[in-house]
Amino acid sequence: MTDHAELIQRRQRLLGKSYRLFYQQPLYPVKGEGVWLYEADGKRYLDAYNNVVSVGHCHPKVVDAICKQASQLNTHTRYLHDTILNYAERLLARFPTHLNNLTMTCSGSEANDLALRIAREVTGNSIALVTRWAYHGTTSSIAELSPSLGISVGQHVRTFAAPDTFRCQGKWLDSLKLTLDNLTLKGLKPAALIMDGVFSSDGVFVPPADEIQQAVDWVRQAGGIYIADEVQSGFARTGNHFWGFEGYRLQPDMVTIGKPMGNGHPVAGLVARSDLLDQFGEKQRYFNTFGGNPVSCAAANAVLDVIEDEQLQMNAQHQGQRLQHNLEKLAARYLSIGDIRGSGLFYGVELVKDRESLAPATELASMIVNAMRQAGVLISATGPDANVLKIRPPLVFTEEHVDLLTDTLDKVLLRFEGCY
Ligand code: PMP
Repeated sequence: MTDHAELIQRRQRLLGKSYRLFYQQPLYPVKGEGVWLYEADGKRYLDAYNNVVSVGHCHPKVVDAICKQASQLNTHTRYLHDTILNYAERLLARFPTHLNNLTMTCSGSEANDLALRIAREVTGNSIALVTRWAYHGTTSSIAELSPSLGISVGQHVRTFAAPDTFRCQGKWLDSLKLTLDNLTLKGLKPAALIMDGVFSSDGVFVPPADEIQQAVDWVRQAGGIYIADEVQSGFARTGNHFWGFEGYRLQPDMVTIGKPMGNGHPVAGLVARSDLLDQFGEKQRYFNTFGGNPVSCAAANAVLDVIEDEQLQMNAQHQGQRLQHNLEKLAARYLSIGDIRGSGLFYGVELVKDRESLAPATELASMIVNAMRQAGVLISATGPDANVLKIRPPLVFTEEHVDLLTDTLDKVLLRFEGCY
């Protein structure tokens, strides 16, 4: 039996059925460096998918910071320690002044879970509003807000159409309005509207700012607050801004962050208006055993250092422009590319069966993702029909990497064009 086959069997036996692997031929990397993942035989793969390692796999500064702190002290937030305070000062300086408190967690799910608890407590309302193919995390209450998991949403959750800029520009607002009107008819009020900075699982959409502003206005008028989920779109990913919500010129009431925050070390958090936390804190306590421990904070501090030192926000902007340009050239040649959208180093390429019906080319997307993997470039597919190629590399991507990605996509598309 090959190494791969044996590992797959062991996984199934030991980890159970909920775990999924990427790719028809799963990847077995043993080393990561920058934008590359290496298998044991030395074959390397260009990582154009993993946003968590946003400053590059195993960045030496982050690794050093983790090692140094881990060899000195690792406790929790019930003792005094300055790493968390230094981090909070630096991080909060990157937010609008009204967002002036940080609570640290270990995952984006926990951050969203806490945000929802606070929203429900301070508004006295229970309904959460999310897009139709949203993903916000794994806890019981947040899984209920994550229809993309394939489960029906909870009793206290309402969904509305995603801001689909390709098929039905602007229509989503009608859907949200209808949802809010239906709540009012039943005498119900929203606690919160939770929206991604870049609508990732819905199919990688970056809608116009005025539409998002309208949505937030309506929800606030109805008594709810606005939670910006920046777990994917935060930390310079969109290039133009450090946070996705800044692109919408909006002031969220709470912001949840995670994934790239520790470059792979599990650290996440909630940034909130202190008056909301005060109100919540008067009634409830919050303690998270691992959240905000000194090692996590050292990792998070090092990530901010690298983003600043290596000017990764500007890099995301520049490489994103090049990526868009290269993808547009491909779209001019391949009819299966229906739409290209995104910002910075977060792009979606929507594949269609033809440009009249715009029918989603789900199988083609899967074939392309797998062929790209065979050709040494890692991407994925997303959206309700899994027909949107998701390109979301570490922010240390260079021009050479962008070109390798799009040249490989060119070759793969050439091979499959005509299948549809
Ligand atoms: N929100 C968004 C937008 C996410 O993409 C994710 C993770 N995919 C989460 C929340 C949950 O984060 P975590 O997996 O760290 O719990």
